[in-house]
Amino acid sequence: MEPPICTKCRAKPSIYHRAYSGERLCQDCFRESLKERVKRTINRFHMFEHGSRIAVGVSGGKDSLGLLRLLAEIEGETHGSEVVAVTVDEGIRGYRDEALRLVEEACSGLGVESVVLGFRDLFGTTMDEIASRERELSTCSYCGVLRRRALNEAAKSVGADRLATAHTLDDMAQSVLLNILRGDVGGMATIDPGGGSLEGFVRRVKPYCEVPERESALYAYLSGFEFQSLPCPYAEEAMRNDIRGFLNRMEAKRPGTMFVTFNTGLKMIPTLSKGEAMGHCRLCGEPTPGDTCRVCQLLGR
Ligand code: SF4
Ligand code: ZN
Repeated sequence: MEPPICTKCRAKPSIYHRAYSGERLCQDCFRESLKERVKRTINRFHMFEHGSRIAVGVSGGKDSLGLLRLLAEIEGETHGSEVVAVTVDEGIRGYRDEALRLVEEACSGLGVESVVLGFRDLFGTTMDEIASRERELSTCSYCGVLRRRALNEAAKSVGADRLATAHTLDDMAQSVLLNILRGDVGGMATIDPGGGSLEGFVRRVKPYCEVPERESALYAYLSGFEFQSLPCPYAEEAMRNDIRGFLNRMEAKRPGTMFVTFNTGLKMIPTLSKGEAMGHCRLCGEPTPGDTCRVCQLLGR
């Protein structure tokens, strides 16, 4: 049986059925539509300015390497902004080292400057060490807080005024439900894809927030670049995994569920975030709403 024809160009055979919109797309129209989607997201949330220096957080996975390529392409054509890759080395042997090689290859292929910042240099410890220690929280709780700080430091070190991360629509929808189920009202502000300006923080933007993970994977596959597919040996975010499974089942049954969940979360932000007053951590001097920041609390400084 012949595959159906692309609903966009009406010429080439479709390779992808976008269930939430009803489109069937050929390879070229799919790639083009993904790029247009990212451009629209950038405009919708006013992410960049002319001449922005954008640090892209690149882990070596399909999402971040795909975002890096798309941003390099889009910014090359339009805004005239500069793209720099920043990578955090958490110190996870056998996992992060492979990813670092892939990032380096991708950046030299794209002609993009790249910078790596390690937990060891910044915090004097690694995730391998933290994971082997007795601790109260999951490895990912430590890793998440430290990586956030490390990415901010890396972005500052390259003089960036934006920090773009590759959170997909799936990540965003999961975060909305996670915040609700944990009762973390303040956490909802972190899903804001346009990011806020806070003193001491490079503004964080999420240009992939309207790209479903499936489409990010298809883009990576069609682009033919190598990416890391090994899971992290410490991955143990049990609750997020449950939510991911639930959302994927709902999306299969009712296409569009993830968009609705994400957009509902966005509508909640203005009502929720009252804007906490920021001070400085008494130990490291970084901005924090309390008197000691999360990084110093977790590292028991
Ligand atoms: Fe860090 Fe957890 Fe991600 Fe591993 S899975 S890199 S420990 S946040
Ligand atoms: Zn087409």
